[in-house]
Amino acid sequence: MSAADTAPVTEGAAPAAPTATATPTDVAPAAASDADAATDARWLARTVELAVENVAAGGGPFGALIVRGGELVAEGQNRVTANLDPTAHAEVVAIRAACQVVGDFSLAGATLYTSCEPCPLCLSAALWARVDRVVYAADRHDAARGGFDDLEFYELFGRDRSTWELPVVAARPDDATAPFDAWLAHDHRTDY
Ligand code: ZN
Repeated sequence: MSAADTAPVTEGAAPAAPTATATPTDVAPAAASDADAATDARWLARTVELAVENVAAGGGPFGALIVRGGELVAEGQNRVTANLDPTAHAEVVAIRAACQVVGDFSLAGATLYTSCEPCPLCLSAALWARVDRVVYAADRHDAARGGFDDLEFYELFGRDRSTWELPVVAARPDDATAPFDAWLAHDHRTDY
């Protein structure tokens, strides 16, 4: 987990962003902000469209897409029930597809747009994919109203694990670090 901890989303943005002086919390100039808002609204509208279409097709109410350099890279719709895959959330589907399109495991410089606030799984996937931004339409409370566990899981992560119904047990054999020792000793490893 240290890779995610030490490599925030902004790390990937640094070399590519033309306005590198701004930090994520800075407020952009009004004109740029307005332009970004209009662009965001346009891509978000597409994610909502994807989500609604997916419901009509028998899937979950979620859609997402990846944009880089102003261009659509890939779209995703929830495929949990269709693929018997509890990890096939729209954001994950879009990230997987986008990585195949660009031929890279990094989506640095890209924006993830999604019809609903990413759940902890998808937010982590966005961090691992090193996207520059995440923009969402509905939020975890809207998802809760729809019967989804996003809000519940966020609250769970905020509580001590000893209170969880799911046991998460640390068992540490003598060779627990062997994989990392092998990794660090490997001359031709691909860092990610
Ligand atoms: Zn998710």
